[in-house]
Amino acid sequence: MFVTRVDVLDAYLAASLGNEAAARLVRLVAKNLEHVGTTQPTPICLLCNHKLSDNHQPLAFVFVIPECDDPSLSICSGLCQRCSTLPDVANRAVNAMRSGIAPDARVLPKFDYQPGHA
Ligand SMILES: [Zn+2]
Repeated sequence: MFVTRVDVLDAYLAASLGNEAAARLVRLVAKNLEHVGTTQPTPICLLCNHKLSDNHQPLAFVFVIPECDDPSLSICSGLCQRCSTLPDVANRAVNAMRSGIAPDARVLPKFDYQPGHA
């Protein structure tokens, strides 16, 4: 799943209204942003070698969500400003995931953020 920071704001609102799927997404983004400023080696953009930092935070995120009941196994990767605006960025990100840690990754529709729905 590919999400922009605007999508994260929508998810935050939905999470505050009780949507658990949105809350999981917000927690994954928060964890990713926390790692950007503290992890060594410095995290890099999923699509290029741009180093992400507190001053160069990701502007979009890609999630790998396993087909199991344990959402804690989800992975969130950041994309730099340049890559987050590339044409067909969602498919580019999935292809990067397929060539790396998730060979069967595919694009999923965004969450339904209706209050009370997963
Ligand atoms: Zn990049």
